[in-house]
Amino acid sequence: MGAMQVNFAARRNTLENKRKRLTGMAPDGAPSTLSARRCGERLPHFEVDELRQIDVALARLHEGSYGFCQICGDDIAEERLDKLPATPFCQRCAD
Ligand SMILES: [Zn+2]
Repeated sequence: MGAMQVNFAARRNTLENKRKRLTGMAPDGAPSTLSARRCGERLPHFEVDELRQIDVALARLHEGSYGFCQICGDDIAEERLDKLPATPFCQRCAD
């Protein structure tokens, strides 16, 4: 359990850093929802999609469902989360 929490903290850091890069937000910038910042008006589509995925992943980290595939419920492989920390699907379901 301890290891898992350290892991989650690291994932959250990764996701939050990615998010900051996408939004250009200051490190402790408060507004956290996409709609509040209306990023959709300025960011290219793929970045908005990525931002939305990150928001969803952060919400799932918070509620404890992060790391499980949203389709089949299996664990998502660590290596996959390393590459795609915001992905909600395991390799099998994403293919
Ligand atoms: Zn799956």
